[in-house]
Amino acid sequence: MAEPRETSETTGLTETTGPTGAAQLAEVDVLIVGAGPTGLFAAYYAGFRGLSAAIVDSLPEAGGQVTAMYPEKMIYDVAGFPGVRGRDLVKGLVEQANQWNPRYLLGRKAHALDDDGERLTMTLDGESGGETVRAKAVLITAGIGEFTPRPLPAGDGWLGRGMVHFVPALDEHAGKDVVVVGGGDSAFDWVLALHPVVRSVTLVHRRAKFRAAESIIREAREAGIRIITDAEVAELRGDADGTLAEVALEIKDPDTKETRPEVLPAQTVVAALGFTADLGPIEDWGLEIHQRSITVDSTMATARRRIYAAGDVAAYPGKVKLIATGFGEAATAVNNIAVELDPSARLFPGHSSG
Ligand SMILES: Cc1cc2nc3c(=O)[nH]c(=O)nc-3n(C[C@H](O)[C@H](O)[C@H](O)COP(=O)(O)OP(=O)(O)OC[C@H]3O[C@@H](n4cnc5c(N)ncnc54)[C@H](O)[C@@H]3O)c2cc1C
Repeated sequence: MAEPRETSETTGLTETTGPTGAAQLAEVDVLIVGAGPTGLFAAYYAGFRGLSAAIVDSLPEAGGQVTAMYPEKMIYDVAGFPGVRGRDLVKGLVEQANQWNPRYLLGRKAHALDDDGERLTMTLDGESGGETVRAKAVLITAGIGEFTPRPLPAGDGWLGRGMVHFVPALDEHAGKDVVVVGGGDSAFDWVLALHPVVRSVTLVHRRAKFRAAESIIREAREAGIRIITDAEVAELRGDADGTLAEVALEIKDPDTKETRPEVLPAQTVVAALGFTADLGPIEDWGLEIHQRSITVDSTMATARRRIYAAGDVAAYPGKVKLIATGFGEAATAVNNIAVELDPSARLFPGHSSG
């Protein structure tokens, strides 16, 4: 059984030039596409099987849906944890994976996949674009694909200048007036998480009905959080330096249908209007795809040699999309990859307990 390698900084890249002249960022045994819970556990498992791994994600932080959508939420159905905060689960997964020093390529989208018969080459799309990673096998753990937040029309031009779509770090908003726009679970998650650290937090929703779960709406009401319904965000306004200062609302009276304006102080606006998810380039990789999921067999192999899929993105009859399922599938995929790369290797990895 392989011993853990020393943990080191995971983002340092050694660049060489690949066969196409593009910067080749890494040459590894397994390239993992998607740093959500499944991809992170797969990175641990690859190391455990003695395979080198790189892990690419279009988001700037690891953790997939958990980090992007519900880092502060408690999760109750991950084996071994009676309850674990999303952020803490991701921290543990990263720590576990880092024992084997995987190469993280964050903020880069896996774009095009080529197979020269010997190695697979992934071209990445990111700020520096056109970089490649060569791998003996690819494991796709892309979840629901790349998520794009739905825009807040009145927030045009304010993204990164006071308006955000996600709240990865609550402390950044400490002491501020915050307006959260939306009526789904994420909007309520954010108001509840922000409430103890900010000066004021208000939830603004354009309808009277919410998409969020009853229990979380009740929790917000019981916490005394101000909720304004039937309200459209008309404008975000800055102060003299252009820093976000207030939000102008148009609030409709449900009976008379007349609107009245209201202005809320806000140094942060969280536009939590949901997101669209798209497998994007993965659809062009020659895999069998049904209803935005990749068909796999019981070894998690896809229709193409040396390409596997696990987690939310992988489909087979009876599939249940849960974090717990993704963990098991990651282990199955990596053990089968180990055997495909070295037919003399055993499928069963041995036990990890030392
Ligand atoms: C609000 C909410 C609450 C939830 N609560 C629970 C719960 O209590 N229990 C539970 O088990 N599950 C829960 N889930 C579901 C759970 O989050 C998912 O099952 C889990 O995140 C799937 O993990 P994954 O790693 O397979 O995919 P994801 O978490 O979706 O991660 C996939 C990653 O792949 C990246 N990616 C996609 N395409 C590319 C590309 N081309 N290039 C680079 N990167 C790419 C994405 O950016 C993303 O980071 C919840 C989901 C939501 C939205």
